Amino acid sequence: PEDIRVYEFAEKLNRPISDVIKVLFSLGLMMTKNDFLGSDEIEILSEEFGVEVTIVDPKDAFNYEEDMAEEIDENATKRAPVITIMGHVDHGKTSLLDAIRKAKVTEDEAGGITQHIGAYTIEQNGEAITFIDTPGHAAFSQMRQRGTDVTDIIVIVVAADDGVKPQTEEVIKLAKESGAPVIVALNKMDKETANPDMVKGQMAERGLNPADWGGDIEFIPLSAKTGMGIDDLLENILLTAEVLELKANENAMAKAAVVESSLEKGRGPVATVIVQNGTLRVGDYVVCGSSFGRVKALIDEHKKQIKEIKPSHTAVVVGLNEVPSSGEVMMAMNSDKEAREYAQKRHEYDRHKELSHSTKSTLEDMTSMI
Ligand code: GDP
Ligand code: MG
Repeated sequence: PEDIRVYEFAEKLNRPISDVIKVLFSLGLMMTKNDFLGSDEIEILSEEFGVEVTIVDPKDAFNYEEDMAEEIDENATKRAPVITIMGHVDHGKTSLLDAIRKAKVTEDEAGGITQHIGAYTIEQNGEAITFIDTPGHAAFSQMRQRGTDVTDIIVIVVAADDGVKPQTEEVIKLAKESGAPVIVALNKMDKETANPDMVKGQMAERGLNPADWGGDIEFIPLSAKTGMGIDDLLENILLTAEVLELKANENAMAKAAVVESSLEKGRGPVATVIVQNGTLRVGDYVVCGSSFGRVKALIDEHKKQIKEIKPSHTAVVVGLNEVPSSGEVMMAMNSDKEAREYAQKRHEYDRHKELSHSTKSTLEDMTSMI
């Protein structure tokens, strides 16, 4: 079942690829034309398009090389990189995020207080960088599962006095799977026991070869405690971003990823989003998983109301009817009606999945009883 791609499915049905992608989206699945369809998706797509699907030979050879190139949006312009910091517990992720914020976020005129909203943007030499500031790598994995790969560059923090630990290994694996470029932050360099060469050796053994050893991974010695090396890290992020040529179209309908969400007193459901494409504005109709609404307010981390969010930027969205999951995609819609329809479809799909899973487990239970 994993052998058919979205565009192949569309071809077989003689339908535009965008139709198939739209239906998938309404099911909460952000897929591009080259993604593979699972059996659940094939089943529901078949229902949706009113066709019967028989899988004849899943091992058919496809020649999709020429289709691999993503469609190029001619109106896309440069956007800021989005960074996720990951690493073993106590190696200094929170301290590093705080140190970067403190060093770079200009205190806001009103009160100087910033609130934690799950992401923030700083400026380095006039260039923006957005950091995802949510604990652990659970959010990262969740986003990847949902296809909302919002992270452009991964910073792996390793305490130079402690070296590679189990969660460092997990993060290395995640990073490799995601394909996002990695920068290693050698933290706690202020400590006497810091041993950067030990860390480099351990990382090299795992395929992350330091640039100063002839490899392609930058290792930046720094200290979240003293602030040493933080500028180097930021410079390096910008250099890496330059190579990636990150682009987005500000004029498209907004597509954003939820990094945090909650129910807030007085505000109702809120979601911190990072815009991936387009511009999200107050007044936009949006759908986000099975929730929907109209953007009532956008609030930045200085508690300031803003009118719009551009690509790679972030804010809290107020106006949804229920709390969406983190990792969910938020999309601007043309009308209230459209938003409701997508949300309803998604609701049905979730129920369908739940049902099919419970049927499966019942079958499994029965087999295990035999
Ligand atoms: P996290 O679990 O990865 O988020 O790690 P934290 O940021 O909570 O840091 C864990 C501990 O290491 C805290 O006690 C920090 O004060 C300390 N720490 C973090 N960065 C540094 C550093 O650069 N130097 C020193 N000496 N201590 C640090
Ligand atoms: Mg922490």
